[in-house]
Amino acid sequence: MRYLPVHIDTSGQTIIIVGGEGAAEAKLRTLLKTDADLHVFSMQTGDEVLRWAEQGRVTLHTRALTDEDISRARLLYAATEDDDVNAELAKRGNALGILVNAADQKDACDFITPALVDRSPVTISIGTEGKSPSLGRAIKTDLEAKLPSTIGKLAIKINELRAHVKVSLPSLSDRQRFWAGIFGTKDLYTQIRVSEESLTAQVEYALGEFGKDMPQNTAGRVVLVGGGPGNPDLLTLSARQKLHSADVIVYDRLISQGVLDFGRREAEYIYVGKEPGGVSKPQSEINEILIEKAREGLFVVRLKSGDPLIFGRADEELDALSAAGLSYEIVPGITAAAAAAAEIGASLTTRGTNKSVTLMTGHDAKGFAEHDWNTLAKHGGRAAIYMGVGASRFIQGRLLLHGAQSSKPVTIVENASRENQLIITTTLGDLALSIEKNGIKGPAILLVGYTPRQAMPVISELWEAAQ
Ligand code: SAH
Repeated sequence: MRYLPVHIDTSGQTIIIVGGEGAAEAKLRTLLKTDADLHVFSMQTGDEVLRWAEQGRVTLHTRALTDEDISRARLLYAATEDDDVNAELAKRGNALGILVNAADQKDACDFITPALVDRSPVTISIGTEGKSPSLGRAIKTDLEAKLPSTIGKLAIKINELRAHVKVSLPSLSDRQRFWAGIFGTKDLYTQIRVSEESLTAQVEYALGEFGKDMPQNTAGRVVLVGGGPGNPDLLTLSARQKLHSADVIVYDRLISQGVLDFGRREAEYIYVGKEPGGVSKPQSEINEILIEKAREGLFVVRLKSGDPLIFGRADEELDALSAAGLSYEIVPGITAAAAAAAEIGASLTTRGTNKSVTLMTGHDAKGFAEHDWNTLAKHGGRAAIYMGVGASRFIQGRLLLHGAQSSKPVTIVENASRENQLIITTTLGDLALSIEKNGIKGPAILLVGYTPRQAMPVISELWEAAQ
C-alpha cells in the first residue's frame, strides 16, 4: 500500500484551491462537502465556481497567491488548467511544508483524492492508487446502492446510544462485544436499515440479555478456532465472528494474514508458531498464555490452521484448560487435506476404490512416524499425508518396501487454497525427487493414491517436458 487513507479534520482549517475552471471545479465538488474554509485563487473563473463564491461557500481571490497564503493552509490543490503551473505550485507548497495535490499529475502529488461514498458521518473512501479509477467508481456505485441514505442518521443515533451503553457496561471489551452482537450476528444490510426507534429497542433488549449466556465466574473464555488452509474465503462464519470479538488471538505459523485480518485492530496478537527448523514455543508455555489471558477475563481465540482437532495438539490445550477450570468451545475448520482434494478435484473416497482414507502425519513426537504401511501399499490404498515433505524419502522407502508399486500416483499440493498454491503430480517412485526438484518446502499435503481430475492444471507435466 503506497497511499495511506486518513480522514483529515477540516473544521476550522483553510484549504487553498488554485484554479477556477474544470479541474478546480471537480476538486471543489468534493471539498464543498467538508467543513473547511475554502479559498480559491483564480484569474479566470468558470460559472459554477463563481456561483459558489456568490453563495459564500468559497472565498474567491483574483490576486496572485503569496507564500503567506500557502503557509496558512492545511492543504493545497494545484488545479489550474496548466500542468506546468500546477507542478510549480506543488514545489512551492512542498517547500513551505504543505501537502499538495496537483491535478492529473500523480508524481507531483503528496496525496490523492479517493472516490467517496458520503453518508456523513459514515464515509467510505475507495482508492486504487490511480491504477483504475473506473474500478473505484464501480465499487462506489455498488456501495452507494447498498448503503441507505439514512445510515448517517443511524450512526448519530448509535453515538447517542453508546453513552447509555457505557453506563451499563463499563468494560471496553464488553462494550465491543456488545456492539459486535448488534451488528455482527444479523445480516448487516438489513440491520443498517432499521429505524432509530427499532435500534434503540434492540439495544435496550440486548443490554438486558448481555452476559446471561456467559460463564458466571468472571473468567474469560477460550475458543479453539479452525483457521482453514489459508484462504480467508474458506473461514467459517462462526470463526469470523469469534475473531471479530476476540480480545486476544493466539496464532500459529500457518495462519495467513488474510485470516488474521478478521481480528480487531485493538486485539492482542500473540504468535506462538515456529519457523521451520526454529525452536517452537513449548506447549506448556502456550497453555499458560491461554490460561493467564482467560483468567484476566478476556475472550481468547486460539487460532489454529485447518481444523483444530487434526494434528493440532488440541488435547494438550483442552486438558490444560479443563484442569484450570476454564470453559472452552471449538469451532471446526477446513482441514488441509480437504482443501487439497478440492483443488485437484479428486474425491477423497471413491465408491469401488477406497472405503476409507487415512489422514496421516509424516512426523510424530519421536521423528518419522511409523504406520500401517501394508494397507496403504495395497492397490487402492489412499492417504493424505500431513507434514510429509521432510519425511518423503522415508515414506517412499517404507511403502516400496511393503510392496507398493512405484507407479502408484501421488499428488503434492503445496499451499493449498493460497495464492502461491502449487500442484505436482508424480509417482511414489519419484516422490522424493519431485519434491526436491520442485523446491517444495511446505506446507504441503501428499495425496497418496490420488491424481487430479482430468483437465486440472498439472504442473509436473510441464516440469517433465522441461527435462
Ligand atoms: N490442523 C491442520 C494441520 C496442522 S499440521 C489442518 O487441519 O489442516 C501442519 C501441516 O498441515 C503442514 O505441514 C501441512 O502438511 C498441512 N497444511 C496446512 N496448511 C496447508 C495448506 N494450505 N496446504 C497444504 N498443506 C497444508
